[in-house]
Amino acid sequence: MYKIGKLNTSVGLSTFCNAKCPQCHRTNPRGLDKAPWLPLVNWDFAGFKKAFPPEKMKLFNEIQLCGTWGDPVMNKDIAEICEYIASHDVDIKLNTNGSIRDEDWWFELGVACGKRLQVCFTVDGHTQESHELYRRNTSLQKILDNMESLSYTLASIKAMTIRFKHNEPYLKDIQKLVKDRGAQGWTGIVSNRFNMKGMDEVWQGYIPKFDYIYKGKLYTLEEVPDLSEPYLNVWFGPGRATNWNDRNQKKYGVEILGHKHEIHSLKQQADANKKEKREVTYSMGWQREI
Ligand code: SF4
Repeated sequence: MYKIGKLNTSVGLSTFCNAKCPQCHRTNPRGLDKAPWLPLVNWDFAGFKKAFPPEKMKLFNEIQLCGTWGDPVMNKDIAEICEYIASHDVDIKLNTNGSIRDEDWWFELGVACGKRLQVCFTVDGHTQESHELYRRNTSLQKILDNMESLSYTLASIKAMTIRFKHNEPYLKDIQKLVKDRGAQGWTGIVSNRFNMKGMDEVWQGYIPKFDYIYKGKLYTLEEVPDLSEPYLNVWFGPGRATNWNDRNQKKYGVEILGHKHEIHSLKQQADANKKEKREVTYSMGWQREI
């Protein structure tokens, strides 16, 4: 017997990913392609609805869409699935590398799901170079732009950093970067994947270094020197749209779907500011569009 509104569950919607994180289960550290044994799978909306039919949705409190074998935002039906979950008053926790889809898509997702949606974006450095030493094939600029777009909706936003020796001295810079772009909180977690084989075929015990090859070049990830605080959390405060909503709570309540045009004008202001910030804030040397 399950209690109504009490169940929390986690669903893997996709084994596709645009990123090539060297210590991910789906990644082959020799070249950073998908591990050959992993099949490419995507759930579609019809399949999701079959597993979570409308009459059963009232049992759930929260559905987590996390990427163990792929990024959920790579799923072609993700927007429909999220809207469906939110429409049944179930919370969504979405974890993503954030370097997928464009700012309008993220904005629309936030409008459609409102307060039911919490997104955790991964930002692994304060510059593109530092970020991509782990989060290969993603754009820091794109992630922050997407995050900012979402921040003009009622969705809540967290940022997460996988901590390594190379980004540990810059955690405060990362926190400032994500706070400026609309994150309400930040979590830093040390990588616990140094106990993998890496490129070595033979298990050689625990090594605090992890070698990988990307585009024919050898790179090394190193563990954080001081492991005494493996988890760090910083709360920045309520998001932009929360304030907007507080002012208008009486008038509109929490339902903002009918007031898209008002948030759109907020977003237009933000877009104008963003263009300026882009030129000064981000990584030296980022010249590609992903
Ligand atoms: S973004 Fe997530 S799923 Fe994709 S490669 Fe990185 S850790 Fe793996």
